[in-house]
Amino acid sequence: MPRPSCLPVLVLVLLLLPAATTDAQGVEARVDSLLRRLTLEEKVGEMTQLTLGAVSVARSDSNPARLDSAKLEELVVRRSVGSLLNVWDVAHTAAQWRDIITTIQRFAARRRVPIPVLYGIDAVHGHHYLREGTVFPQNIAMAATWNPALMLLTSRITTYETRASGIPWNFSPVLDLGRQPLWSRFPETFGEDVHLASVLGVAAVQGTQEDPMPAMRVVLGGGSLSDPLLASPRPPRADDRWFVAASGKHFVGYSMPRSGKDRTTAWIPDRQLREYFLPPFQAAIDAGLATMMVNSADVNGIPVHASRELLTDLLRTQLGFRGVVVTDWEDIIRLQTVHHVAPTRLAAVRMALDAGIDMSMVPYSASFIDDVLSLVHSGAITESRIDESVRRILRLKVGLGLFERSLPDSARLAMAGAPRSLAVSRVAAEQAVTLLENRGDLLPLARRTRVLVTGPGATSRSAMYGGWSYSWQGTDTTLFPASARTLLQAMRERGDSGAVVHVPGVGNPADSIGDDAGIAAAVRAAADVDVVLVALAEPASAEKPGDIDDLAMPAAQVRLARALLATGKPVVLTLFTGRPRTIRAVVDSARSIVLGYQSGPYGGDAMAAVVYGEVNPGGRLPYTYPRSASDIEHYDHLASAEVAPDNSQRGYSPEWTFGHGLSYTRFQYGDLALDHAQRGVRDTVTISVAVRNAGARAGDEVVQLYVRQLTASVSPPVRRLRDFRRITLAPGEGRTVTFRVPIARLAFVGRDNRMRVEPGEFQVQVGGQVARLEVQ
Ligand code: BGC
Repeated sequence: MPRPSCLPVLVLVLLLLPAATTDAQGVEARVDSLLRRLTLEEKVGEMTQLTLGAVSVARSDSNPARLDSAKLEELVVRRSVGSLLNVWDVAHTAAQWRDIITTIQRFAARRRVPIPVLYGIDAVHGHHYLREGTVFPQNIAMAATWNPALMLLTSRITTYETRASGIPWNFSPVLDLGRQPLWSRFPETFGEDVHLASVLGVAAVQGTQEDPMPAMRVVLGGGSLSDPLLASPRPPRADDRWFVAASGKHFVGYSMPRSGKDRTTAWIPDRQLREYFLPPFQAAIDAGLATMMVNSADVNGIPVHASRELLTDLLRTQLGFRGVVVTDWEDIIRLQTVHHVAPTRLAAVRMALDAGIDMSMVPYSASFIDDVLSLVHSGAITESRIDESVRRILRLKVGLGLFERSLPDSARLAMAGAPRSLAVSRVAAEQAVTLLENRGDLLPLARRTRVLVTGPGATSRSAMYGGWSYSWQGTDTTLFPASARTLLQAMRERGDSGAVVHVPGVGNPADSIGDDAGIAAAVRAAADVDVVLVALAEPASAEKPGDIDDLAMPAAQVRLARALLATGKPVVLTLFTGRPRTIRAVVDSARSIVLGYQSGPYGGDAMAAVVYGEVNPGGRLPYTYPRSASDIEHYDHLASAEVAPDNSQRGYSPEWTFGHGLSYTRFQYGDLALDHAQRGVRDTVTISVAVRNAGARAGDEVVQLYVRQLTASVSPPVRRLRDFRRITLAPGEGRTVTFRVPIARLAFVGRDNRMRVEPGEFQVQVGGQVARLEVQ
């Protein structure tokens, strides 16, 4: 074959190069000229972020968002506050968002140097602060889908709706690893594994920051949801342009509080920090992450907001982050009032600036502006330090196109929550459902099966959604759309007429005691049915209010389940939980256990669809499900964790391990093969495995590739996930799945605290198959 000429490509590159350069230069020139025109006071205003409440009149239930012109005049016009955030407790309607953002930007346009306000919001599982918006499953459920293409798509829909509301900044994704199951923000994480969380985190960043319009035209235009365009990120761009800015949070170590309580101390050895907690942030930075939010707590005794080592030396110098660093809520002030590392508020501000923050989520008043000005006037902080941060903030505003488009887009806003977007939410909820047990193939049920449905998960919409759903805690049930069906409604719709009966048993997921009469009524009703479905659920919560002292499922629900198990009827346990609440007392005697996580409006439908076999479950655990709260260990532990003190039994025994999930069909693995059994540290190895659907129905399998290093200078984990792929196979269908794994991915942090690949022998494990790899 004749070699194709490189000339056309070269010409294209040459044509594109000057344009790209001009674009980047254009942004910088614009930033420079703005910066030159700003007074010191205006610059410090740009570094200030206030909550919407600071510019509103006191809220009422009928009007959560009445702006206060005098406050806007004072803070947005006179003091040049550069950024506002959030809602006052509850979601706004599209019309309210239109008014709020338009009014704010009108005030901003009246500044001496008109610079639009950068509005930021938590749209952490869909644009849930928009009443009409599309809500998706929580991140932990998205992780259970093991489907980065779906994460990309849900993020694109979120970004479309967010920007349509006039909001160009999303405080998402959480890149903290979910390795402390007690932590109240566990559902916001992508689970415990570094690779899974990094892959999904990158998909979330790309889906948030790229222009979603090509994909949205397919989605809203009625195109196929399997269109490859929806699953592929656009090639990275070198210039600083974002559709919506993502915020990686919370840098770093936030998710590992020793007590499990939110915003409390983490003690993380440097090797663990680098090997486990940094990679998702590094991957997101490499994917062009625009902003980073800081961990409110302290790591190894140092509040992160005061740590130059973490925010500058590590984040900027070592990880190469170039974007805007924003504090979390009131966290500079808390350096004085909570952490006691600063004697005064002024000292706290100086400390945070020295550490490297660019913007302060103050968020109630202009105190930060006053403090920074007095620090500059006293010579404690230089104006060039201020310029550094303001330059980054202006670059963000320019790169977001805020000077051209700062207002809501009514036509696009009208498409928020479109049926086609909701269809994606439904697919995500279905793909997350994880079948943990199915003894004697009790599931799926026939439609005629007489089922007693009991337990709080049957009727609690808030448990199905979790926190950050229309309100901060997700517990204001008046705000949920009527179209979001409960598990009970979804079961009734599918079962034959009269086949599904309901007795609440325990009505409230937070009930810790339970009432005997309620439980007795459920037990009585069990006599007349074939199967009992006990719907367990964790109460919805967000952040600190979700702190728990015990990982066990609330006691009243366990009592209910035990009472029903004692009837001898086959029991299905369903779970709506954001973290792995332990259920030891009922695991062994339940016939089937199905985990629905917190999956938003289609949580109930997805669960019922699995129970009746309309959907063949393909979700897999994105975390290790512990047996007991006092035995928390991860799947990628060291071999020593497997040995009990008497050396007789295995010490690692979770309820279910990371990656676990059953199907209504069976998958068989064979022919695990490596293209080279020996590779160098800079090579890539190609690993293939044959997977076959050996059952009678179509199903999804998540092919998981684990690697174990047999001996290393630092105790190696028993296995680490190094790649994965979710595939769909028809009955009898077989496929060869191929992974290309750079040997560099097998690196670990050595005794010198640096990432290294150490030559030696490795074991490659896929679906029970094992092969040997030697790295030279
Ligand atoms: C949370 C952040 C959130 C911020 C703004 C804080 O309390 O920790 O995750 O982005 O509030 O709502």
